[in-house]
Amino acid sequence: MKDQTFFGHPRGLAVLFFAELWERFSFYGMRALLILYLTASIADGGLAFDASKAAAIYAVYTSMVYLLGLPGGWLADRVFGQRRSVLYGAILITIGHFSLAVPSLGFFYVGLLLIVVGTGLLKPNISTIVGQLYERSDERRDAGFSIFYMGINFGAFGGPLICNWLGENYSWHLGFGAAGVGMTLGLIVYLMFGKTLGEAGKLPANHDDPEDQARSRRTLRNGLVGAATIAVAATLAVKVGGVTIGAEAISNAFGIILIVLSIGFFFWLFRSHPWTPEERGRLGAIVILFVAAAFFWGAYEQAGSSLNLFARDFTQRTVLGFSFPAGYFQSVPALFVILQAPIFAWLWVKLGRKQPSSPFKFALGLVFVGFGFVIMSVGATKGGQVSPMWLISTYFFHVIGEMCLSPVGLSTVTKLAPERVTSLMMGVWFLAAALGNYLGGRTAGFYESLSLSQLFGAVAATVIVAGIILGLMSGRIQRMMGGIR
Ligand code: GLN
Repeated sequence: MKDQTFFGHPRGLAVLFFAELWERFSFYGMRALLILYLTASIADGGLAFDASKAAAIYAVYTSMVYLLGLPGGWLADRVFGQRRSVLYGAILITIGHFSLAVPSLGFFYVGLLLIVVGTGLLKPNISTIVGQLYERSDERRDAGFSIFYMGINFGAFGGPLICNWLGENYSWHLGFGAAGVGMTLGLIVYLMFGKTLGEAGKLPANHDDPEDQARSRRTLRNGLVGAATIAVAATLAVKVGGVTIGAEAISNAFGIILIVLSIGFFFWLFRSHPWTPEERGRLGAIVILFVAAAFFWGAYEQAGSSLNLFARDFTQRTVLGFSFPAGYFQSVPALFVILQAPIFAWLWVKLGRKQPSSPFKFALGLVFVGFGFVIMSVGATKGGQVSPMWLISTYFFHVIGEMCLSPVGLSTVTKLAPERVTSLMMGVWFLAAALGNYLGGRTAGFYESLSLSQLFGAVAATVIVAGIILGLMSGRIQRMMGGIR
């Protein structure tokens, strides 16, 4: 008999649900503080960076978190297995947040680095273990992922409520420390109840191939030596050579690397095998959906950057005499996900075969997120402190967009990929998020130099036009997909 104790799902799902809940609590709590801390005046305990520099740092950080999911997935497959990768990741993230709790610039940057590496190890692999809890044919699988997505958003809801309450009212570092406490709870859950996961994710995929294991360990060692060399050389250049490297310059270079990497990856993917014309069509569809997802996240993820600044500077934050922290608005999208996800799940089932195709859902996602920015662009013309309803209604539409795009995204991309490259598709999905987070971060760099109405209007126009083009092409893309919906 199957053990069904977590809403009719394997017991291991509960462990992953709570571990990821606390990881996202720490991630989103810290993220909701980040740009506010970077731009706050010295008198307010901040770093007093201008918006352009702050956005440059924010963009690289939030992008790297997803980008390092690629080596993180590789390491789990080849060296550690998923279970140990998640454990190491959770430890690094915990130390990272506590490092941010120390009021020193050095600890700050080290903390960001640790969180980036730790999340790269944890985030893709914890999702992979979710999948491994089910047999291939188990019909509960999709539902399992939906429950897991709820856990993500419970964490994302709670993080800003606690971290920004402490961080904005008392001390930034206290807020970062609270994120560390959250991640510690996740780590404890994972350590105490990891046993219920059974064999899932215990061994690396190459466990019966000692040669591949040796080769992978060598690659890991070379990678670490390479990274350490670059780090030492950069430190020497700055400390001894007197070289000054600005945050914007690093961020620009990072952006170029990200784009070259994405183009290079798809180039390689197309040439890596003599694909049949049908497979080529499907890969082409993946490229288009990838670009659409990057645009979508580029708009959506401004919740933590430009919209967070807007909440602080131009939004009334007093209700019935109580004033609340700017970062509280970051909990709103998570709350909408929790409320809307069951409605959308019901809607798609109800529509059955009449539901829109996945390219058309992507197009809808872009148009909805763009519509949210239309609202912001109007709100920004009002001047003074505007009603919270502007941001709240913006997030309402952003989450409708997310419901159209995010849950179908990974599964469509995975189904479209030829079998020999399916495991790469999680990486493709993370690469799109990395690009999107980068774009969304850098956009906030114009916060002081453009009028906000123009800035939000430009974002709206870009994603809505992209959405319309995608919508018009969706029939064609559907045909490229060769029977997959
Ligand atoms: N909000 C989701 C999460 O944190 C998706 C984020 C993303 O892929 N950009 O997991």
